[in-house]
Amino acid sequence: LTQLYAPLNFLGFVYREIKHALADMERMFGLLEQGQEVADRPGARRLKAGQAGVEFEHVDFGYEPRRQILFDVSFRIPPGGTLAVVGASGAGKSTLSRLMFRFYDVDRGAVKINGTDIRDLTQASLRQHIGIVPQDTVLFNDTILYNIAYGNPAASQDEIVQAAKAARIHDFVMGLPDGYQTQVGERGLKLSGGEKQRVAIARTLLKNPPILILDEATSALDTRTERAIQEELGQIAKDRTTLIIAHRLSTVVDADEIIVLDHGRVLEAGSHRELMQRGGRYAQMWALQQAGDEQ
Ligand code: ADP
Ligand code: MG
Repeated sequence: LTQLYAPLNFLGFVYREIKHALADMERMFGLLEQGQEVADRPGARRLKAGQAGVEFEHVDFGYEPRRQILFDVSFRIPPGGTLAVVGASGAGKSTLSRLMFRFYDVDRGAVKINGTDIRDLTQASLRQHIGIVPQDTVLFNDTILYNIAYGNPAASQDEIVQAAKAARIHDFVMGLPDGYQTQVGERGLKLSGGEKQRVAIARTLLKNPPILILDEATSALDTRTERAIQEELGQIAKDRTTLIIAHRLSTVVDADEIIVLDHGRVLEAGSHRELMQRGGRYAQMWALQQAGDEQ
């Protein structure tokens, strides 16, 4: 009888994993009501890269045919490099991360990794190479341990604790009556925005991907925690290909390149120094934020 049960248990496990994974990705990207899907091409290749360069080549994109969101967007992140994207809310910044993860296909142009169009790669292998700390993290109705380990189901307890420590969430977890076994999510303990974000950071640390997308990754944190985690993120971003989407300009100063996105167009591109010298939109944003900080 146990022999009969084993495969059934396994199926239940697989089902749960798939359900979780789908709910996660859909919610993370607000796709639930979309129903839009991209499919693997016949003969799609598995991406297998320790280092990955990312390229956007003349990308046009719209979620709906009649409303274009991105216009001729081009940039290149060399392997291990960091590109920061700044711009007003609604400019299309998060859309870039969704295209990189291939939740949608571009309408024109291409997104490439190590020179290969991502439409020629399997989605599973593409997504294995990318870790995202999204704006809003969704937690599963499961233990906090499960929620962190989700980044890498093969991780040991020790690795999980290491990641939680680096993401500054370990002490918080240890203070809970059930520790790592605490149920979280809609039907469990509700975590604050900052706590969820730290869970997402721990998850990503554990996944250890060559490409990192930080979408205003520390926006929900208080200034002190933000500074501590920024340092940690800076460390893990160091030899990874990183796309940082940022509201606070102080977090992008060290990026190899910064692009200013304005209504879906690249308005300016360059290093912090170059953009400051240019005296354009970036310099303006910087002056505004400095003034705001002094108040
Ligand atoms: P940002 O991250 O710069 O604030 P987004 O990339 O999230 O901007 O959004 C850019 C534009 O695309 C916005 O006008 C937004 O309303 C629109 N948009 C975002 N997601 C969707 C979607 N799933 N369906 C339709 N429009 C969307
Ligand atoms: Mg956004």
